[in-house]
Amino acid sequence: MSEEANGRGKKPTLAESLAANTQVSVARCYQCGKCSAGCPLAGEMDYPPSMIMRMLQTGDPELEEKVLRSLSIWLCLSCETCATRCPMEIEITRVMEYLRSKSLELGLVNRKAKKILAFHKAFIDSVGLTGRLYEVGLVAGYKARSLSLWQDLLVAPVMFAKGKLNPFPHVIKGRSAISRIIEKAGQVKENKP
Ligand code: SF4
Ligand code: SF4
Repeated sequence: MSEEANGRGKKPTLAESLAANTQVSVARCYQCGKCSAGCPLAGEMDYPPSMIMRMLQTGDPELEEKVLRSLSIWLCLSCETCATRCPMEIEITRVMEYLRSKSLELGLVNRKAKKILAFHKAFIDSVGLTGRLYEVGLVAGYKARSLSLWQDLLVAPVMFAKGKLNPFPHVIKGRSAISRIIEKAGQVKENKP
């Protein structure tokens, strides 16, 4: 189905654009609740995964916006417990990923998720810079973005002393290829309707 319009000539619902982009259909969910029962973060979420599925099924724009503004989609760890437990084999982790990218694209990121987003961005920047995760770069990038300058400051010297943190980055051979992949993924996202 086109992302521009569905068969009725209307703007596609969030569930329709999700299906068009990921081939995951939330219509298959019959609300058994097994995903929410197993989700390690369900207790912290504003809407547990099964409720997110139900809200998407309704196609109600107000509920769709609530989903995109939710903290749940950012708390999701992509641990796959929900998808493993789902009797309908719905890839809920992919649903959460899509919702995160849509929330970002539409500027609807929950304000409580700002630090989580800062971590995601610092992680990608670090991998783009060296081709692999550079922990010190990740920490510095996260602190600069989140302004959590003093958080865990006393832990760093201990970790350096124990050799858990390397002050110098290890740049891999194919670094430029990794950077191009990240750059291209960013462009694809920006060009998305
Ligand atoms: S992938 Fe996300 S939603 Fe699913 S169980 Fe893990 S944390 Fe919960
Ligand atoms: S486990 Fe699958 S079918 Fe059951 S509520 Fe969750 S998504 Fe729906």
